[in-house]
Amino acid sequence: MAIDAELLEILACPLDKEEVKPIALSESRRTSVRDKFRDKFRGEEPVVEQGLQCVKCHRVYPIVSDIPVMLVEEAFEEA
Ligand SMILES: [Zn+2]
Repeated sequence: MAIDAELLEILACPLDKEEVKPIALSESRRTSVRDKFRDKFRGEEPVVEQGLQCVKCHRVYPIVSDIPVMLVEEAFEEA
């Protein structure tokens, strides 16, 4: 699963409008994001493999079933 290059170009961190880069999420992070989004997917298991990391503030926005979730309240800090 790879995010579309054209889509990636228009996405930006909502806080500082900086560019974001795809990163692989750790297994524990994938599990916690899946658990969080399962309710919203009504029985369908959400697919979580990657996130988008801001080059400036380093917040990571999860990509859930190919949908980039560019919301500050859903972002997390990845080491
Ligand atoms: Zn940022």
